Amino acid sequence: MCAPIVCRAKALPPLSWRRGFSTAIAACIALCATITPAQPVRRIALTFDDLPGVSQRSSLAVLDDINRRLLATLRIERVPAVGFVNERGLDVPGEHEARVDLLRRWVGPGFTLGNHTYAHKSINDTPLDAYQADVLKGEVATRRLLDASGQELVWFRHPYTHTGPTPAIKASLDAFLNEHGYDVAPFTIEAADYAFAAVYERALMAGEHARADETLAAYLAHQDTMVAFGEALAVDTFGRDIPHILLGHVNRLNADAMPELLRRLRARGYIFVTLDSVIDDEAYDTPDRFVGRYGPSWLHRWRVALGKPSRMAAEPDPPAWVMKAIE
Ligand SMILES: [Zn+2]
Repeated sequence: MCAPIVCRAKALPPLSWRRGFSTAIAACIALCATITPAQPVRRIALTFDDLPGVSQRSSLAVLDDINRRLLATLRIERVPAVGFVNERGLDVPGEHEARVDLLRRWVGPGFTLGNHTYAHKSINDTPLDAYQADVLKGEVATRRLLDASGQELVWFRHPYTHTGPTPAIKASLDAFLNEHGYDVAPFTIEAADYAFAAVYERALMAGEHARADETLAAYLAHQDTMVAFGEALAVDTFGRDIPHILLGHVNRLNADAMPELLRRLRARGYIFVTLDSVIDDEAYDTPDRFVGRYGPSWLHRWRVALGKPSRMAAEPDPPAWVMKAIE
């Protein structure tokens, strides 16, 4: 769970810094947007952060509803997923076991859990020893749930996907995670769902249903844009399509949008696969050589290792009215 509802708000450079599509990327996006299911099958793994869920009303009843509907869609559509847990979200007096039960639903065939630290601190602002303690504090219930079902706790995702502001801190944290048996879960596509989700939920709470509908439609459109951007950037980086990893959050917006979001991905030719199978692709053997205070997609990180020019400034922004609404 994020302290501010805008979980990944600090993950990328300021919007003003990221203006200006390169012509090549824009042209490739236009091309990719026209691809139909007749094209070769594309693969994507879905990952969800901030379990047991992000809501402006993080009551047990609201989180139960969000998790139930989101998981029902994924199971009906046979979409595997990994959920990344902040165990701080379990520590509500009198509700601990009920909240652990929400996580238990994410464990089973096609589903597993990962560690997203206890309290969702950024490594940019947290001493390394305190951050490492938060990693270990955040694995207790998650490890117990996975052990009970014969699964291993393998996946770790840094809050805000901040992986270390200096080479020394990043190397030390990587070594710590490795010693504790963790693999870092990359992502290649995300669509600022935290921003749309905040505006969407606020509109619903205010009874502004037209604004909620408009926000949901804008989210799905931005998702299309970001999938196209990720596809184009992968081709520009590796000379071929690669399997992708989508990062989103457990929130009401995704609970409501997931059926249409999955339909749109299928219409682009995607099938839904596990995170393990995606990272078997050799593109994922490319080292993450990005060091800094932002938390960009692994596509941007790999370009550092491959000596390719940065495309971070070309990444499309959500509509200005969405970003203004969450300021
Ligand atoms: Zn998060």
